Amino acid sequence: MANHYRQSAAITGGAPRTCYYTLTFAVTFPHSEDVCYLAYHYPFTYTTLMTHLDILEKSVNPKQVYFRQEVLCQTLGGNPCPLVTITAMPESDSADHLEQFRQRPYQVITARVHPGESNASWVMKGALEFLVSSDPVARLLRENFIFKIIPMLNPDGVINGNHRCSLTGEDLNRQWLSPGAPLQPTIYHTKGLLSYLSSTGHSPVVFCDFHGHSQKKNVFLYGCSIKETLWQAESTVGTSTILEDVSYRTLPKILDKLAPAFTMSSCSFLVEKSRASTARVVVWREMGVSRSYTMESSYCGCNQGPYQGLQFGTHELEEMGAMFCLGLLILELKSVTCSHQLLSRAATLLNAEEEVLVASLAQGLQFGTHELEEMGAMFCLGLLILELKSVTCSHQLLSRAATLLNAEEEVLDLHLQR
Ligand SMILES: [Zn+2]
Repeated sequence: MANHYRQSAAITGGAPRTCYYTLTFAVTFPHSEDVCYLAYHYPFTYTTLMTHLDILEKSVNPKQVYFRQEVLCQTLGGNPCPLVTITAMPESDSADHLEQFRQRPYQVITARVHPGESNASWVMKGALEFLVSSDPVARLLRENFIFKIIPMLNPDGVINGNHRCSLTGEDLNRQWLSPGAPLQPTIYHTKGLLSYLSSTGHSPVVFCDFHGHSQKKNVFLYGCSIKETLWQAESTVGTSTILEDVSYRTLPKILDKLAPAFTMSSCSFLVEKSRASTARVVVWREMGVSRSYTMESSYCGCNQGPYQGLQFGTHELEEMGAMFCLGLLILELKSVTCSHQLLSRAATLLNAEEEVLVASLAQGLQFGTHELEEMGAMFCLGLLILELKSVTCSHQLLSRAATLLNAEEEVLDLHLQR
C-alpha cells in the first residue's frame, strides 16, 4: 500500500488535506484468450438475483407460503426491477382468516441502491432464504407480517458495473426527496409504494435499506433521532423538553445480542443535512416511520465480538440477513401490541434465540469467578424457562414471560457492556 494520492487544496477549499491510500497490484493472466473479471467484493449480479428469485419461488409450498415476484417498474436501461412479496397464505377461506391476512402489518426491506455494494446483496440473499424457509421463526414472521422486498434498487448500475451511480451518473440514494419517474424510476416507484402504504394506514413497522461500508468494520445501523441530532449540534432548543419515542433503539439493541457480526457501538442516529435526501431520512420524515434504517455491512470484517479478526465470507453476510429477520420477530415480541397467541408461541422461539446466544458468547474465554457465579444464576433462570416451555405452564405465567424476555435481555446487556 502506497500513499500516492492526496486531495488537492482546490477540492478541500484549503482545509487540511485528506490522504487516501492507493492499492497497487500486478495480475498475470496465465492463459491466452481467457476471460477474467476483477471484483471489488464477492460478486452478486442481476442474473444471479433473478435466478435466485426463481429458485426460491419454486422451493416454497404455495399452499403455505405466499411468494410473489412482480415488476416494480422498468429501469432506464429497460431492465425489470423485481418487487417480492412474502407472507403466509391465509389459514382458511373464512372471513376472519381473510381479514387477518389483509390486516397484517408490513415490513419493507430494500438493497443494492449502490451497485458496488455487493455485500448488501449477500445479506439480502440470507434474509430472503430465511423468510421462505421452514424455520419456525420464519413461519411466525410470515404469519404475522407482509414483507415487501426490493432486493436490487439499481439493476442498471449492477449490470453496467457502476460503483455508486445510476445510468445518469447520479447517486440514487440522494434522490428520495423528489424522484422523477423518467430518470429515477426505481426510487420513484419505491417511494410511491411506501406513500401508498402510509396513506392507507399500513406504514411499515420497519423500513431498512441494506448497504456496504468501505471504511468501518462490523455490521451496524444508521437510524433517525431528532433528539440526538439536536443534542449533537448543541442546538439552543431545549432538548430536554422534546419527548421522543426511543423505539428506534430497540432493533439495534436486539441485533447487537443476536447477530455475531453486529455491534451497537457503531450505530448512529444522527440526521445529517448531507443525508436529507436518502431513503432512511425521507421515509422517517415524510412517512413517519420511526424505525427507518440503513444497515451497513463492512467490506472487511469484524473487530469485536465472536467474529473479531475475521474477514467476512458470504456465509457471515447471509447469516446477518437471517439474523435481521429474527430481530424483527423479537422486536414484535417486545412491543405492547404483541398478541397473546404470538407471545405464547414465543416459548419455542426462546429456544432458538438461546442457542444463538450460547454459540456467540462462549468462545475462547478462561473462566473467572464471575462466569462461575453467573452459571449459578443462569441455572435458576433456566428452571423458569423450563416451566414456560412445559405444557402445564399457566397462561398467567406465559403472559408475564414478556417481562421475562425483557429482563433477560437487560441482564445480557450488562454482561456484554463490561
Ligand atoms: Zn451505500
